[in-house]
Amino acid sequence: MAFSTEAVFREDSYLRETEAKVVGVNERGGIILDRTIFYATSGGQPGDTGLMVRDDGSQIAVAATITGESKDEIIHVPALHQAIPEVGERLRLAIDWPRRLLLMRMHAACHLLTVVCPYPITGASVHEEDSRVDFDIPDAGFTKEDVTAQLMELVRANHPIYNSWISDAELVANPTLVKSKNVRPPSGTGKIRLVCIGDNASIDSQPCGGTHVASTGEIGEIHIGKIEKKGRENRRFRIRFGAMPAN
Ligand SMILES: [Zn+2]
Repeated sequence: MAFSTEAVFREDSYLRETEAKVVGVNERGGIILDRTIFYATSGGQPGDTGLMVRDDGSQIAVAATITGESKDEIIHVPALHQAIPEVGERLRLAIDWPRRLLLMRMHAACHLLTVVCPYPITGASVHEEDSRVDFDIPDAGFTKEDVTAQLMELVRANHPIYNSWISDAELVANPTLVKSKNVRPPSGTGKIRLVCIGDNASIDSQPCGGTHVASTGEIGEIHIGKIEKKGRENRRFRIRFGAMPAN
């Protein structure tokens, strides 16, 4: 039987610490809680790492977070040689916040890239240092300098980034919301989370379950490190932090 974990990060991506109760430990030592702030790997964003603190002050290091039998079941994978908590035990949770914040900034930057390059997305992968988005475009016609300039214009405008929820039926009625060519947003649960950028979503809105910063200004300085050709109709854009290096 799969558990259903309350995904606190979905409503509040800035919560760094909270408490939760152990509801299950699977045969491989994976810890399942009633609620969590640990994002589970999906949609190209890696899961959180961090710590669980027991009542006696001892710590359990979390090396990875993944989904289980269902998307609603979140499994905290301990590092090697950690103590295993009891079902029913209460734990204090703390995510590796500096790492998560980098991922939130990068993930939001990927959304901005899909605004600057409004083409079908064939893949994406978010990392702390370097992220990539693949687009279905026959010829780039883009230069990394131009794309960087347009991204930084959106960053400097400091647009708000916020969530709004729509029903499955509303999504079906607005198919252009979905920019991903291969991945359909999860449906059947009745509601879908849209990530909106700009007042009244004037810049963008698209279904996404990841974690993002609350404004484009928080992304900070970024640049396109590379535009690579991946097959005849595919271009891979790499986003990096910091100013574009000279030459
Ligand atoms: Zn997203």
